[in-house]
Amino acid sequence: MKKKVVTRFAPSPTGYIHIGNVRSAIYPYLVARQAGGKFILRIEDTDRARYVEGATELIVETLKWLGLDWDEGPGVGGDNGPYFQTERTDIYYEWGKKLIASGRAYADTTPAEKIGEYREKAKAEGYPFLYRNYRPAETPEWEVGMPLRFKAEPKNYEYHDEVMGDLKMGEETQDDFILIKADGLPTYNFAHIIDDVTMDVTHVIRGQEYLPSMGNYLALYDALQIERPIFVHLPHILGPSGTKKLSKRDGAKSVTNYRDEGILPEAMLNFLACLGWNDGTEQEIFTKEDLIEKFRLDRIQRASARFDEQKLVWLNGQWIRKLFVENPEELHRRAHEFWDEYAKDTTDERKNIIMSIIYDRLKTLADLRGMTRYFFVDPEVDLDMLLQNKFLKKMSEEELQNLLQAAVKKLETVEDWTPENIRTALNELLIETKTKPPVLFSPIRIALSFAPFSPALPETMEVLSKEVVLARLNAVIRALSNER
Ligand code: GLU
Repeated sequence: MKKKVVTRFAPSPTGYIHIGNVRSAIYPYLVARQAGGKFILRIEDTDRARYVEGATELIVETLKWLGLDWDEGPGVGGDNGPYFQTERTDIYYEWGKKLIASGRAYADTTPAEKIGEYREKAKAEGYPFLYRNYRPAETPEWEVGMPLRFKAEPKNYEYHDEVMGDLKMGEETQDDFILIKADGLPTYNFAHIIDDVTMDVTHVIRGQEYLPSMGNYLALYDALQIERPIFVHLPHILGPSGTKKLSKRDGAKSVTNYRDEGILPEAMLNFLACLGWNDGTEQEIFTKEDLIEKFRLDRIQRASARFDEQKLVWLNGQWIRKLFVENPEELHRRAHEFWDEYAKDTTDERKNIIMSIIYDRLKTLADLRGMTRYFFVDPEVDLDMLLQNKFLKKMSEEELQNLLQAAVKKLETVEDWTPENIRTALNELLIETKTKPPVLFSPIRIALSFAPFSPALPETMEVLSKEVVLARLNAVIRALSNER
């Protein structure tokens, strides 16, 4: 009988989840959902020196935001708990004792200085340091509080990795590594294997930084006589330069930073899933459902993918449009917190109208702040912006002033201030003034917004109100005449 697919995300609560590591959550999630299996969240908190208060909460928040729900783990429970490694020590002791009983583990009380000397000696003699060459002849009976070491019996191993292919691990990759530390907590090397087997994990999906340790892991599966899971080691994600691993320094922010900058979770999930994976077509926009359906482990690229924030921002713009078309209320709801201070007295209805004329220019929801200011406060008149405009450069200030005056006169006649009526008036004005559209519309647009761009004029004007439009045009006319 085929085993039920069980995958896990097993982060260590040592800080925020660096964006380069989130694929280690997304891919196992997709594999589990596609197979109708189970996705487990396990918190690997045994490294107390690197433990960061609040990091687990941040992990939970990140996964929830991305829509990666788990079937077992913190907040959910399950039959294979606890899901924090520090609460599972009895399980590790039990398995440690099995290894002692079969002669494959020993208590080691060798002082750290001594081990340091061995390391120095190996270095001086030009050998790679392997503790098994210095294994103590006599060892005490193990009890909690003493380091417990694996007893290596080096072999040549072969194994298959779904991404990296067929690999070999030679004898030199296996050593007497620590299973349980003096503080009574297991090492990652030991704990993850025990957890994976006791949680029936079928696929171990994680970063390639664990590849060099595979010799020790294979030896442990062997010594414990447990079946190996399917291995999936993900290539690194490279920084924007494409030459080195993405690090916090080149912008490996936390996922929640991006959320706060107005990236949609759908866009983030889409972007990260496609870093080093594609479905073999040109498709770029994938919903979570698409990903669950189309994801294939064998299409993960072996080469490292480059992190390109521009691509993320582009995708986010696509997602904002998609969401507006499919579910505008949802977009309004999410945009809520991104409006600036000056919008605080504006009704939701008016904000929604502004959103509906501006959404297709937004790359992030945070763009709302800079891009909609002129809807709420009169912009400062900046004549240079007007006079330097590429369509207006050849015009004199007098010509510009006349044009704006003609616009004021025309717009004053519009009784019912609707986009249709405004559009008609502007089109009549084009004919009457015998100008080309950019020459007429650019100065009006600039006078109303003094922003690098703004949505279609009639719609913008409607939202601003007739009174504000006329007042802003007149302010510019005045500024131009003061200038002359
Ligand atoms: N706790 C490990 C980490 O955060 C997880 C590795 C694994 O998935 O086994 O890197």
